[in-house]
Amino acid sequence: MLKEVLKHIQQRGKFLLTSHARPDGDAVGSALACCQVLRAMGKEAEVVLRDGVPRIYKPLPYADTVVAAERVNGKYEAAIILECDSIQRTRLQGLEDRFLISIDHHLSGRPFADVNWIDPKAVATAEMVYRLAREAGVEISPDMATCLYTAVLTDTGSFMFEGTNEHTFALARELVLAGADPVRCARHIYFGHSTAKMRLLGAALSNLHREGSLAWIWVTCEQMERAGAREEDCEGLVNYALSIQDVEVAVFFREVPNAGFRVSLRSKGQLNVAEVAARFGGGGHQCASGCSVQGPLAVAVARVIEQLRSHPSVQ
Ligand code: 5GP
Repeated sequence: MLKEVLKHIQQRGKFLLTSHARPDGDAVGSALACCQVLRAMGKEAEVVLRDGVPRIYKPLPYADTVVAAERVNGKYEAAIILECDSIQRTRLQGLEDRFLISIDHHLSGRPFADVNWIDPKAVATAEMVYRLAREAGVEISPDMATCLYTAVLTDTGSFMFEGTNEHTFALARELVLAGADPVRCARHIYFGHSTAKMRLLGAALSNLHREGSLAWIWVTCEQMERAGAREEDCEGLVNYALSIQDVEVAVFFREVPNAGFRVSLRSKGQLNVAEVAARFGGGGHQCASGCSVQGPLAVAVARVIEQLRSHPSVQ
Protein backbone atom coordinates (compact mmCIF):
# COMPACT_ATOMS: atom_id res chain seq x y z
CA MET A 1 0.00 0.00 0.00
CA LEU A 2 2.97 2.32 0.61
CA LYS A 3 3.91 1.94 -3.07
CA GLU A 4 0.32 2.69 -4.07
CA VAL A 5 0.31 5.90 -1.99
CA LEU A 6 3.63 6.95 -3.50
CA LYS A 7 2.35 6.28 -7.02
CA HIS A 8 -0.65 8.54 -6.45
CA ILE A 9 1.59 11.26 -5.03
CA GLN A 10 3.99 11.03 -7.95
CA GLN A 11 1.08 11.40 -10.41
CA ARG A 12 -0.07 14.69 -8.87
CA GLY A 13 1.37 18.15 -8.22
CA LYS A 14 -0.62 20.00 -5.58
CA PHE A 15 -1.67 18.63 -2.18
CA LEU A 16 -3.62 19.57 0.86
CA LEU A 17 -2.61 17.89 4.12
CA THR A 18 -4.79 17.65 7.17
CA SER A 19 -5.62 15.61 10.27
CA HIS A 20 -8.24 15.38 12.96
CA ALA A 21 -9.71 18.33 14.85
CA ARG A 22 -8.07 19.05 18.25
CA PRO A 23 -4.81 17.74 16.80
CA ASP A 24 -2.32 15.92 19.01
CA GLY A 25 1.44 15.61 18.55
CA ASP A 26 1.21 12.86 15.93
CA ALA A 27 -1.43 14.76 13.95
CA VAL A 28 0.60 17.98 13.86
CA GLY A 29 4.04 16.37 13.55
CA SER A 30 3.01 13.95 10.79
CA ALA A 31 1.21 16.62 8.76
CA LEU A 32 4.13 19.07 9.03
CA ALA A 33 6.69 16.40 8.16
CA CYS A 34 4.64 14.99 5.28
CA CYS A 35 4.27 18.50 3.87
CA GLN A 36 8.06 18.91 3.90
CA VAL A 37 8.52 15.48 2.29
CA LEU A 38 6.14 16.43 -0.54
CA ARG A 39 7.92 19.74 -1.07
CA ALA A 40 11.24 17.90 -1.20
CA MET A 41 9.67 15.80 -3.98
CA GLY A 42 8.99 19.01 -5.90
CA LYS A 43 5.27 19.15 -5.04
CA GLU A 44 3.15 22.02 -3.81
CA ALA A 45 1.69 21.26 -0.39
CA GLU A 46 -0.13 23.05 2.37
CA VAL A 47 -1.33 21.99 5.85
CA VAL A 48 -4.84 22.99 6.91
CA LEU A 49 -6.09 22.06 10.39
CA ARG A 50 -9.54 22.90 11.68
CA ASP A 51 -8.21 24.01 15.08
CA GLY A 52 -4.75 25.21 14.05
CA VAL A 53 -1.64 24.18 16.01
CA PRO A 54 -1.92 23.79 19.82
CA ARG A 55 0.43 25.95 21.89
CA ILE A 56 2.94 23.24 22.84
CA TYR A 57 3.49 22.29 19.17
CA LYS A 58 3.95 25.85 17.93
CA PRO A 59 7.78 25.64 18.21
CA LEU A 60 7.79 22.86 15.56
CA PRO A 61 9.36 23.80 12.21
CA TYR A 62 6.81 25.32 9.80
CA ALA A 63 4.04 25.28 12.45
CA ASP A 64 3.51 28.96 11.66
CA THR A 65 2.57 28.07 8.05
CA VAL A 66 -0.41 25.90 9.10
CA VAL A 67 -3.73 27.38 8.04
CA ALA A 68 -6.53 27.18 10.62
CA ALA A 69 -9.82 27.01 8.71
CA GLU A 70 -13.28 25.46 8.70
CA ARG A 71 -13.38 24.91 4.94
CA VAL A 72 -10.92 23.81 2.25
CA ASN A 73 -11.17 25.96 -0.85
CA GLY A 74 -8.05 25.78 -3.03
CA LYS A 75 -7.48 23.71 -6.17
CA TYR A 76 -5.71 20.66 -4.84
CA GLU A 77 -5.21 17.48 -6.84
CA ALA A 78 -5.45 15.38 -3.70
CA ALA A 79 -5.96 15.72 0.03
CA ILE A 80 -3.82 13.56 2.32
CA ILE A 81 -5.57 12.91 5.62
CA LEU A 82 -3.16 11.77 8.30
CA GLU A 83 -3.85 10.14 11.68
CA CYS A 84 -7.58 10.39 11.20
CA ASP A 85 -10.19 7.72 10.52
CA SER A 86 -12.91 9.72 8.78
CA ILE A 87 -13.66 12.96 6.94
CA GLN A 88 -15.94 13.95 9.83
CA ARG A 89 -13.11 13.90 12.39
CA THR A 90 -11.20 16.54 10.40
CA ARG A 91 -14.24 18.80 10.96
CA LEU A 92 -13.23 20.46 7.68
CA GLN A 93 -15.79 21.18 4.99
CA GLY A 94 -15.00 20.91 1.31
CA LEU A 95 -13.12 17.59 1.39
CA GLU A 96 -15.94 15.33 0.20
CA ASP A 97 -15.48 15.58 -3.57
CA ARG A 98 -11.70 15.52 -3.60
CA PHE A 99 -9.29 12.67 -4.26
CA LEU A 100 -8.46 11.47 -0.76
CA ILE A 101 -5.45 9.56 0.54
CA SER A 102 -5.61 8.29 4.12
CA ILE A 103 -2.45 7.49 6.09
CA ASP A 104 -3.34 6.22 9.55
CA HIS A 105 -2.18 3.86 12.29
CA HIS A 106 -5.37 3.66 14.34
CA LEU A 107 -6.57 0.22 15.37
CA SER A 108 -10.05 1.55 14.65
CA GLY A 109 -8.93 2.93 11.26
CA ARG A 110 -11.53 2.59 8.49
CA PRO A 111 -10.95 2.71 4.74
CA PHE A 112 -12.93 5.89 3.95
CA ALA A 113 -10.64 7.47 1.31
CA ASP A 114 -9.83 6.65 -2.34
CA VAL A 115 -6.48 5.23 -1.24
CA ASN A 116 -6.16 3.87 2.30
CA TRP A 117 -2.86 3.01 3.95
CA ILE A 118 -3.73 1.85 7.46
CA ASP A 119 -1.06 0.18 9.57
CA PRO A 120 -2.02 -0.34 13.24
CA LYS A 121 1.46 -1.82 13.84
CA ALA A 122 3.07 1.58 13.29
CA VAL A 123 3.68 3.25 16.67
CA ALA A 124 2.65 6.58 15.21
CA THR A 125 1.49 7.88 11.84
CA ALA A 126 4.88 9.62 11.86
CA GLU A 127 6.52 6.21 11.39
CA MET A 128 4.52 5.80 8.18
CA VAL A 129 5.53 9.28 6.96
CA TYR A 130 9.13 8.32 7.65
CA ARG A 131 8.71 5.17 5.55
CA LEU A 132 7.06 7.20 2.79
CA ALA A 133 10.03 9.58 2.73
CA ARG A 134 12.47 6.68 2.55
CA GLU A 135 10.51 4.98 -0.24
CA ALA A 136 10.42 8.28 -2.16
CA GLY A 137 14.19 8.68 -1.76
CA VAL A 138 13.78 11.89 0.22
CA GLU A 139 16.56 12.61 2.69
CA ILE A 140 15.18 13.29 6.17
CA SER A 141 16.10 16.88 7.02
CA PRO A 142 16.61 18.08 10.63
CA ASP A 143 13.24 19.90 10.40
CA MET A 144 11.42 16.77 9.21
CA ALA A 145 13.18 14.73 11.89
CA THR A 146 12.12 17.18 14.59
CA CYS A 147 8.44 16.95 13.57
CA LEU A 148 8.56 13.15 13.29
CA TYR A 149 10.43 12.67 16.57
CA THR A 150 7.92 14.88 18.44
CA ALA A 151 5.07 12.83 16.95
CA VAL A 152 6.66 9.53 18.03
CA LEU A 153 7.52 10.88 21.48
CA THR A 154 3.96 12.03 22.17
CA ASP A 155 2.05 9.17 20.53
CA THR A 156 3.98 6.53 22.46
CA GLY A 157 3.30 8.40 25.72
CA SER A 158 7.01 9.22 26.01
CA PHE A 159 7.98 5.69 24.92
CA MET A 160 5.74 4.13 27.59
CA PHE A 161 2.63 2.86 25.81
CA GLU A 162 2.09 -0.75 24.85
CA GLY A 163 3.59 -1.36 21.41
CA THR A 164 6.79 0.55 22.19
CA ASN A 165 9.63 -1.81 21.32
CA GLU A 166 13.10 -1.98 19.81
CA HIS A 167 11.75 -0.73 16.46
CA THR A 168 10.44 2.41 18.14
CA PHE A 169 13.87 3.16 19.55
CA ALA A 170 15.50 2.32 16.23
CA LEU A 171 13.19 4.87 14.58
CA ALA A 172 13.92 7.44 17.31
CA ARG A 173 17.64 6.82 16.78
CA GLU A 174 17.30 7.39 13.02
CA LEU A 175 15.45 10.64 13.68
CA VAL A 176 18.02 11.87 16.18
CA LEU A 177 20.80 10.99 13.71
CA ALA A 178 18.88 12.98 11.08
CA GLY A 179 18.95 16.06 13.31
CA ALA A 180 16.09 15.89 15.85
CA ASP A 181 17.24 17.24 19.22
CA PRO A 182 15.51 15.02 21.83
CA VAL A 183 16.18 17.45 24.68
CA ARG A 184 14.63 20.43 22.89
CA CYS A 185 11.68 18.38 21.62
CA ALA A 186 10.94 17.07 25.13
CA ARG A 187 11.35 20.50 26.69
CA HIS A 188 8.70 22.02 24.43
CA ILE A 189 6.27 19.23 25.24
CA TYR A 190 6.81 18.73 28.97
CA PHE A 191 7.93 22.18 30.13
CA GLY A 192 5.66 24.18 27.89
CA HIS A 193 2.38 24.11 29.82
CA SER A 194 0.25 27.16 30.39
CA THR A 195 -0.60 28.31 33.91
CA ALA A 196 -4.27 27.77 33.02
CA LYS A 197 -3.58 24.11 32.31
CA MET A 198 -1.98 23.62 35.72
CA ARG A 199 -4.98 25.29 37.41
CA LEU A 200 -7.27 23.01 35.42
CA LEU A 201 -5.23 20.00 36.47
CA GLY A 202 -5.82 21.01 40.10
CA ALA A 203 -9.57 21.17 39.47
CA ALA A 204 -9.58 17.83 37.64
CA LEU A 205 -7.62 16.07 40.40
CA SER A 206 -9.95 17.44 43.05
CA ASN A 207 -12.64 15.43 41.22
CA LEU A 208 -10.62 12.20 41.33
CA HIS A 209 -12.58 8.98 41.87
CA ARG A 210 -11.17 5.51 42.45
CA GLU A 211 -12.86 2.13 42.20
CA GLY A 212 -10.58 -0.90 42.20
CA SER A 213 -8.21 -0.51 39.28
CA LEU A 214 -10.32 2.23 37.70
CA ALA A 215 -9.75 5.96 38.20
CA TRP A 216 -11.64 8.84 36.67
CA ILE A 217 -11.54 12.61 36.74
CA TRP A 218 -13.58 15.33 35.07
CA VAL A 219 -13.78 19.05 34.42
CA THR A 220 -16.93 21.07 33.90
CA CYS A 221 -17.37 24.11 31.64
CA GLU A 222 -17.42 26.26 34.75
CA GLN A 223 -14.08 24.86 35.96
CA MET A 224 -12.59 25.40 32.51
CA GLU A 225 -13.76 29.00 32.57
CA ARG A 226 -12.51 29.62 36.10
CA ALA A 227 -9.06 28.29 35.19
CA GLY A 228 -9.03 30.36 31.98
CA ALA A 229 -8.33 27.07 30.18
CA ARG A 230 -8.84 26.14 26.54
CA GLU A 231 -9.80 22.80 25.05
CA GLU A 232 -6.16 22.01 24.26
CA ASP A 233 -5.25 22.45 27.95
CA CYS A 234 -7.11 19.18 28.62
CA GLU A 235 -4.61 17.13 26.60
CA GLY A 236 -2.74 14.70 28.83
CA LEU A 237 -4.71 15.34 32.05
CA VAL A 238 -5.99 11.75 31.97
CA ASN A 239 -2.41 10.50 32.35
CA TYR A 240 -2.26 11.85 35.91
CA ALA A 241 -5.10 9.50 36.86
CA LEU A 242 -3.39 6.63 35.03
CA SER A 243 -0.13 7.33 36.88
CA ILE A 244 -1.64 6.05 40.17
CA GLN A 245 -0.26 2.72 41.37
CA ASP A 246 -2.59 -0.23 40.63
CA VAL A 247 -4.81 1.82 38.35
CA GLU A 248 -5.23 -0.15 35.12
CA VAL A 249 -7.64 2.17 33.28
CA ALA A 250 -8.18 5.92 33.64
CA VAL A 251 -10.89 8.12 32.19
CA PHE A 252 -11.14 11.87 31.74
CA PHE A 253 -14.50 13.56 31.13
CA ARG A 254 -14.65 17.09 29.74
CA GLU A 255 -17.97 18.87 29.65
CA VAL A 256 -18.69 20.41 26.24
CA PRO A 257 -21.17 23.32 26.16
CA ASN A 258 -24.60 21.89 25.18
CA ALA A 259 -23.02 18.69 23.86
CA GLY A 260 -22.47 16.26 26.73
CA PHE A 261 -18.94 15.07 27.46
CA ARG A 262 -15.76 14.32 25.55
CA VAL A 263 -14.20 11.23 27.02
CA SER A 264 -10.52 10.21 26.99
CA LEU A 265 -9.72 6.62 27.95
CA ARG A 266 -6.27 5.30 28.81
CA SER A 267 -5.14 1.79 29.68
CA LYS A 268 -1.88 0.33 30.90
CA GLY A 269 -2.35 -2.45 28.36
CA GLN A 270 -4.60 -5.22 29.65
CA LEU A 271 -7.88 -3.68 28.55
CA ASN A 272 -8.39 -2.56 24.97
CA VAL A 273 -9.96 0.88 25.43
CA ALA A 274 -10.47 1.31 21.66
CA GLU A 275 -13.21 -1.35 21.92
CA VAL A 276 -14.87 0.49 24.77
CA ALA A 277 -14.75 3.83 22.92
CA ALA A 278 -16.18 2.15 19.83
CA ARG A 279 -19.30 1.16 21.82
CA PHE A 280 -19.97 4.91 22.12
CA GLY A 281 -19.17 5.68 18.48
CA GLY A 282 -15.54 6.66 19.13
CA GLY A 283 -12.25 4.88 18.53
CA GLY A 284 -8.49 5.03 18.91
CA HIS A 285 -5.87 2.57 20.08
CA GLN A 286 -5.53 -0.30 22.54
CA CYS A 287 -4.11 2.03 25.23
CA ALA A 288 -5.55 5.42 24.22
CA SER A 289 -9.00 6.13 22.86
CA GLY A 290 -11.77 8.67 22.94
CA CYS A 291 -15.48 9.17 22.35
CA SER A 292 -18.39 11.49 23.10
CA VAL A 293 -21.14 10.65 25.60
CA GLN A 294 -24.32 12.52 26.41
CA GLY A 295 -24.68 14.09 29.88
CA PRO A 296 -25.52 14.95 32.55
CA LEU A 297 -22.23 14.15 34.24
CA ALA A 298 -23.51 11.38 36.54
CA VAL A 299 -25.13 9.60 33.58
CA ALA A 300 -22.09 9.95 31.32
CA VAL A 301 -19.77 8.63 34.05
CA ALA A 302 -22.11 5.76 34.92
CA ARG A 303 -22.40 4.62 31.29
CA VAL A 304 -18.66 4.60 30.64
CA ILE A 305 -17.65 3.13 34.00
CA GLU A 306 -20.23 0.38 33.65
CA GLN A 307 -18.65 -0.71 30.36
CA LEU A 308 -15.22 -0.81 31.99
CA ARG A 309 -16.33 -2.56 35.20
CA SER A 310 -17.43 -5.65 33.32
CA HIS A 311 -13.89 -6.34 32.10
CA PRO A 312 -11.90 -8.95 34.12
CA SER A 313 -8.72 -6.83 34.18
CA VAL A 314 -10.40 -4.11 36.27
CA GLN A 315 -12.21 -6.36 38.79
P1 5GP B 1 -7.78 11.72 23.12
O1 5GP B 1 -8.27 11.08 24.35
O2 5GP B 1 -6.38 12.24 23.30
O3 5GP B 1 -8.73 12.73 22.55
O4 5GP B 1 -7.69 10.58 22.00
C1 5GP B 1 -6.95 9.39 22.20
C2 5GP B 1 -6.91 8.61 20.89
O5 5GP B 1 -8.22 8.24 20.51
C3 5GP B 1 -6.34 9.40 19.71
O6 5GP B 1 -5.60 8.51 18.91
C4 5GP B 1 -7.57 9.87 18.98
O7 5GP B 1 -7.30 10.02 17.62
C5 5GP B 1 -8.59 8.77 19.26
N1 5GP B 1 -9.94 9.34 19.40
C6 5GP B 1 -10.35 10.25 20.30
N2 5GP B 1 -11.64 10.55 20.15
C7 5GP B 1 -12.09 9.82 19.10
C8 5GP B 1 -13.36 9.69 18.44
O8 5GP B 1 -14.35 10.33 18.80
N3 5GP B 1 -13.41 8.83 17.39
C9 5GP B 1 -12.33 8.10 16.98
N4 5GP B 1 -12.49 7.29 15.96
N5 5GP B 1 -11.12 8.20 17.57
C10 5GP B 1 -10.98 9.04 18.62
